[in-house]
Amino acid sequence: MYPEVSLYIDGKWCKGATGRSEPVLNPATEEQIGTVPHADKADLDRALAAAEKGFEQWKKVSAYDRYKIMRKAADILRSRADEIAKVMTLEQGKPVAQAKMETLAGGDIIDWFAEEARRAYGRVIPARADGIYQLVIKEPVGPVAAFTPWNFPINQAVRKISGAIAAGCSIIIKGPEETPASCMELIRAYIDAGVPAGVINLVYGVPSEVSEYLIPHPIIKKVTFTGSTAVGKQLAGLAGLHMKRVTMELGGHAPAIVFEDADLDTAVKILGVNKFRNGGQVCVSPTRFLVHESLYGKFVDAFTTIAKNTKVGNGLEDGVEMGPLANGRRVTAMEGFVADAVSKGATVKTGGKRIGNKGYFFEPTVLTDVPDDARILHEEPFGPVAPIMPFSSFDEVVKEANRLPYGLAAYAYTRSAKTANAIGAAVESGMVSINHHGLALPEVPFGGIKDSGYGSEGGSEAIEAYLNTKFVTQAGL
Ligand code: NAD
Repeated sequence: MYPEVSLYIDGKWCKGATGRSEPVLNPATEEQIGTVPHADKADLDRALAAAEKGFEQWKKVSAYDRYKIMRKAADILRSRADEIAKVMTLEQGKPVAQAKMETLAGGDIIDWFAEEARRAYGRVIPARADGIYQLVIKEPVGPVAAFTPWNFPINQAVRKISGAIAAGCSIIIKGPEETPASCMELIRAYIDAGVPAGVINLVYGVPSEVSEYLIPHPIIKKVTFTGSTAVGKQLAGLAGLHMKRVTMELGGHAPAIVFEDADLDTAVKILGVNKFRNGGQVCVSPTRFLVHESLYGKFVDAFTTIAKNTKVGNGLEDGVEMGPLANGRRVTAMEGFVADAVSKGATVKTGGKRIGNKGYFFEPTVLTDVPDDARILHEEPFGPVAPIMPFSSFDEVVKEANRLPYGLAAYAYTRSAKTANAIGAAVESGMVSINHHGLALPEVPFGGIKDSGYGSEGGSEAIEAYLNTKFVTQAGL
């Protein structure tokens, strides 16, 4: 059932020139299910030459024709969602229903960017003198180098590829080595829809080797990365050194604020589902639960019940709500967060431990009495551990929400329009969702501020990342 993974360079599926590869593991069993070939320098040179050639060809394809090919790719992806979802669950672990939703949502994202391709308008600026035409023209930025992670193998890649090719750019994408096959199936949908050779190139390899080679390369004109803040800062630094445009979609540590007048049942239900979705390995996952002291006890009890009732298991099995974590590093990280918090005085209300010793399963975990210096209140958890803290005033909770250098997502629950407006304005965050979980649709902006990065991968802003603005002023002779 697990496909053979290949690189895709200049219109051909291939292995790396030197035959290097690494195993792909099923995180539910720790068994090897495949191998992922590594691209070496010679492969990257071929991909660069292909992307240069692909760009020259693709930028001349009309926006209307790009749109038609992309709409077809979206349909192909959707038609294969059942098979792709199983592959994603095998390599990433998430429940197959969630993997299918991600694949179908990928189709929606391609559709959105296809439509945006036709709306990459310029403008005409009124001139100061008769006979002068001042034109603002949008042009594709050029070949793109993209780096995407393992938590959403399709979702993180589809935004970058679709934005790039909608604008008329070509792209070299370094997909996630831990979850390579679903990203490969995504690429296959574009190819089968008719995207020409060289326009999309897929490589895997040693991440630092690939990024250090591609980012400074003169053929690459734009860099886009999704992953941790630490790596993002390195790559943004390298891109800055070579004056490359960048989009950085980095980590977060989202405050989830429950005010005194919140609808408690709604807050617990929505935050519970979203905390444990994909094992908490989501950049916009709610991660710092800040609950007004008047509701604190009830919230903790109800949230703990949700955590206890979340069915953990192999994502291919019916009824499983949370799969294994994607790799052993996440289990070690969760054990570290819990041990550190407990050693400093935190209480484990439920969970706190690895489940079994085969597969990277970890218990949905709730922590209370978490002291300010616990690591989990400073570092992005990226896993199923929820610290819940009480607060007493609006100013206090805003201070806590804005305390960290992150600024990706924030959540709030209140029945007061005044409080909703005030918290929406006060929180330093790229995205704020109030009284529901409303992030990440293709048509709405998606991106962070502060250490969470910059640029948007959704909404009408997203295609801008792949366009240059050219000004042409013209006088009649
Ligand atoms: P990591 O920092 O080693 O890697 C994160 C991602 O960056 C991976 O996809 C990796 O392949 C890539 N990467 C690492 N070094 C790179 C380099 N020099 N050049 C190019 N790409 C590079 O961490 P990890 O253990 O894989 O993941 C854990 C952390 O990463 C989490 O704590 C979380 O903060 C972050 N993360 C964030 C997202 C997101 O959606 N923003 C996704 C996955 C991981």
